[in-house]
Amino acid sequence: MAKKQFKSESKRLLDLMIHSIYTHKEIFIRELISNASDAMDKMYYKALTTDKLDFNKDNYKIKIITNKEDRTFKIIDTGIGMTKEELDKNLGTIAKSGSLNFKEENDAQEGYDIIGQFGVGFYSSFMVADEVMVKSKAYGSEEAYCWTSKGADGYTLDICSKEDVGTEITLTIKENTEDENYDTYLNPYHLKSLVKKYSDFIRYPIIMEIPVSNLKEGSKDEFEESLEEQTVNSMVPIWRKNKNELKDEDYENFYSEKHYGFDKPIKHAHISVEGAIRYNAILFIPEKAPYDYYTKDYEKGLELYSNGVLIMHRAPELLPDHFSFVKGLVDSEDLSLNISREMLQHDRQLKLISKNIEKQIKKELLSLLKNNREAYDKFYESFGRQLKYGIYADYGMNKDLLSDLLLFYSSKDKKLVSLDEYIERMPDDQNFIYYATGESLEKIEKLPQTEQLLDRNYEILYLVDDIDEFAVKVLTNYREKEFRSVTSNDLGIEDLDNKEELEEEIEKNKDLFAKMKTILDDKVFDVRPSKRLKNHPVCFANDGDISIEMEKILNQMPNGQQVKADKVLEINIEHKVFDALKAALKDNEDDFALYTKVLYDQARLIEGLSIDDPVEFADNIWKLMK
Ligand code: ADP
Repeated sequence: MAKKQFKSESKRLLDLMIHSIYTHKEIFIRELISNASDAMDKMYYKALTTDKLDFNKDNYKIKIITNKEDRTFKIIDTGIGMTKEELDKNLGTIAKSGSLNFKEENDAQEGYDIIGQFGVGFYSSFMVADEVMVKSKAYGSEEAYCWTSKGADGYTLDICSKEDVGTEITLTIKENTEDENYDTYLNPYHLKSLVKKYSDFIRYPIIMEIPVSNLKEGSKDEFEESLEEQTVNSMVPIWRKNKNELKDEDYENFYSEKHYGFDKPIKHAHISVEGAIRYNAILFIPEKAPYDYYTKDYEKGLELYSNGVLIMHRAPELLPDHFSFVKGLVDSEDLSLNISREMLQHDRQLKLISKNIEKQIKKELLSLLKNNREAYDKFYESFGRQLKYGIYADYGMNKDLLSDLLLFYSSKDKKLVSLDEYIERMPDDQNFIYYATGESLEKIEKLPQTEQLLDRNYEILYLVDDIDEFAVKVLTNYREKEFRSVTSNDLGIEDLDNKEELEEEIEKNKDLFAKMKTILDDKVFDVRPSKRLKNHPVCFANDGDISIEMEKILNQMPNGQQVKADKVLEINIEHKVFDALKAALKDNEDDFALYTKVLYDQARLIEGLSIDDPVEFADNIWKLMK
């Protein structure tokens, strides 16, 4: 039969993998065992949900056989098998589309585990084998098929003979090289330890032939070698084990085995609940966001088991959106095996479980924040944005749950601070939580509007993420302290807000401000003397609910409605610019109009807004130079 080519993206990916300097080549064992176990779960599930099939647990096992002479490693399962089409589809396409791009983007990242991330599990065998052969007979099918490949140059797919339903995979293990001892994958003792390490809790027996030496019959000192079939895994699922017997490493191995993520989880929680509802759960907080996390392709959910049997790979009902990053599983004796997706949504037990899980996750995150700040910061880099969406979503319904988990950058040290930390170090005379928005910390720091506040030693939250200000608006206050923007018309500071001279100045120069407003037409909501400026001549302040930063963000969105912030042009009346304005108003109306326009454009530039007519702006500057 003609050789078939891998789909082009797969080919490149496979090439990358074969030649990758991936250090944990041994994980191919974990991957193959996991596939075998899944295939048997599928049979079990079929038996439980249709009456056509009897399931006798004794018939389900995984066998590993090695042969040093012909350098083969064989893994045989009695699972559901694959049809010809399935062999072609499942083994002809390595990864979901888009993964190669991701791989290339992230190549710089060290220790990057492409294998776990994209379910290219089966292909990990090419890291240790020159040739891979998969013989499979699908449940309900008369024929068996054989798939063989030597790697990236393609594969063949032919009919073959195989008696039992299931899959048999044969790897021809590579010859040793200077850097790599491939012989270890043919050594039964070593393999046994690897199976224990990675796959101990697989619920089906993993059987190996282990050489043992026994006394020769009738002899006292002569030994003979024979092969003994041993079940090498304990078969107790990790979540049924006693927490005290498990090490962090066991949980980490389980996390990789399950393909929950390619990172190391930051934290895990192992829960056993007795009482009205009974369940075991293992929850993981990942360190890094999966590449599709912030896209609509990402599917949240926990695995759902009913008394040890996997009934759903991903039950989204178990996780609220704001904690959609959590990975793990729930096993409950109280759930029916035959529960359908539709029923699941209304299941009372499941609702209770998911409420409990939400509480547990909150508890874990808070404890991380309090006890391991460095790890929490890492977590927050990856998933903070999701927590902020959570505040904003559903009209702020979850803000009480989430607000103490938030972090923002602040003017102090430009590090992330929690709102509790912020409030605790507020000076006595400060009444509000101040915030400033902008594209970057550097840009915010230079905003003229922050001067007076920083002078008073007030800390300012620096909101650099698009979602930040929306979240803050929904929060409105935290521990009874209101949030206040540095561009707000009322900064809530007695001696700044109620400057008598200011009132006088307004009164005296009513005409000047009104004229400026007329010149700027509908571009500004108002022109006023500033309370917050110290060294700079102008800035924008904000009336109304939509801030300038929000205007920018909303207008960038596709099909976004054009929204406008009510901009107030503030003039620093203690600055020389004010004298110039007054003089021009008296002597030269043209100059006055020119100054007004230039000041307005400057305020726009400071805010990072574009100028309506850059050519006119350039000409205006030129006119000023004359
Ligand atoms: P993943 O297991 O993450 O989906 P793999 O590349 O390991 O990715 O396997 C691809 C698919 O091939 C599996 O989803 C499964 O449908 C099928 N498969 C692999 N191994 C077996 C097996 N031993 N028995 C039945 N199907 C298998």
